Amino acid sequence: MKTEKVPHIVIVGAGFGGLLTAQKLAGAPVQITLIDRHNYHLFQPLLYQIAIAGLVPSQIAYPLRTIFRRQKNLTFRMGEVTSVDLKARYIRMNGSVIAYDTLVLAIGGQTNFLGLNTVEENSFQLKSIESATSTRNHLLKMFELASREVDPDKRKALLTFVVVGGGPTGVETAGALAELIAHVMTKDYPEMDLSESRVLLLEATGNVMTAYPDELRQSTMKLLESKGVEIFLNTKLTDYNGRRITVADGSQLDAYTLIWTAGVRSAELTDRLGVQQAASRRVRVEPTLQLPQHPEVFVIGDSAYLEDGQGQPLPMLATVAQQQAITAARNIRKILKGETPELFQYKDPGLLATIGRNAAVARIWGLSFSGLIAWLIWVVLHIYRLIGFRNRLVVLINWAWDYFFYDNQIRLITRE
Ligand SMILES: Cc1cc2nc3c(=O)[nH]c(=O)nc-3n(C[C@H](O)[C@H](O)[C@H](O)COP(=O)(O)OP(=O)(O)OC[C@H]3O[C@@H](n4cnc5c(N)ncnc54)[C@H](O)[C@@H]3O)c2cc1C
Repeated sequence: MKTEKVPHIVIVGAGFGGLLTAQKLAGAPVQITLIDRHNYHLFQPLLYQIAIAGLVPSQIAYPLRTIFRRQKNLTFRMGEVTSVDLKARYIRMNGSVIAYDTLVLAIGGQTNFLGLNTVEENSFQLKSIESATSTRNHLLKMFELASREVDPDKRKALLTFVVVGGGPTGVETAGALAELIAHVMTKDYPEMDLSESRVLLLEATGNVMTAYPDELRQSTMKLLESKGVEIFLNTKLTDYNGRRITVADGSQLDAYTLIWTAGVRSAELTDRLGVQQAASRRVRVEPTLQLPQHPEVFVIGDSAYLEDGQGQPLPMLATVAQQQAITAARNIRKILKGETPELFQYKDPGLLATIGRNAAVARIWGLSFSGLIAWLIWVVLHIYRLIGFRNRLVVLINWAWDYFFYDNQIRLITRE
């Protein structure tokens, strides 16, 4: 008797795009191998909460083997994919070779330091659990060091926190950091005058939150300033040696902390594919999300470059990655049935960013909100989007505790 070969779908990356693609192929007549260098799915939008001691990593990450326990057509493999042979149709992972019939690359992005080597060497970033945890350790350590520092200039530098990049991540981090100092650290360090501390937000262009409408940019600036964040627009960082920042006009400031949130590019593996790349080194894809000349390869999420109807590149957002995952999974099913794949169309669900307690900005259904209403929408949405009931409950309790008692609980300095 002749047995039919089941198509092998290899999905690289179990972030927002890869995870949903795999889930949407549950029950399809395919065998899926899902690969990620981590054994968990990470909810990156809350990484800054790890850095400011608001949450612990296990509350925003979820084990992949648990998520896929019941999906019979899927095998998970933890490992680093180091190359893809597009002609021979296989990938290399930790020395072994895995052949595919269809490949989905959902490998996301990584921090782009825009060629500023000293910044890359000396700054902190928020892209992984490791980087967010080391940011937390460093931030907390600065208060300990400042508490025993007698030289006033050095103490000021220890308590000067510079966040670079006025996008949502920079804004959220700066706002949360200012609140951590104002509400928590002032209680923990009664012997110190924390009015000496500064949180600076540096933005190279003339606006924070460039993707947002003007009224929300203004609200963001007002809300940040009300929390004590000093905003410097048109200020381009050029150098950081770990102790002193230098900006384009030559002015300098002593600061022991710099958090870089000003650039993202597609993950490094895309450089080794030998295919056409666009801005931020993202891979150019067809409107069906297939790779030109390789219809058996789909690229989605942060690592894919596709323009919207107005010729603008789609943003590197979880919402884009998730919608593309749905289209990619649907197209894989269509191709299996001999049907024509559909074109991807992004439906913008709106914009949302928090600046701190009772303070957020949102653009939903064409309406702009700021302040408490936007903040409540942000809280509900982020709790809802976390994976696992336990995580949702624990995060909710944590935030409620912080809210009512002004007390971030995770103020531990751990060895790395
Ligand atoms: C701090 C921060 C805050 C953010 N806030 C928001 C927000 O509020 N709203 C929003 O919509 N978006 C936000 N984003 C952006 C959002 O997280 C990304 O757009 C989204 O994660 C992209 O999904 P993806 O599937 O393309 O990639 P990712 O979710 O990054 O997943 C990629 C996966 O691929 C794996 N991988 C990469 N290379 C390899 C390899 N060679 N081998 C094996 N595995 C590999 C990685 O481990 C990772 O798990 C934020 C991002 C950051 C960093």
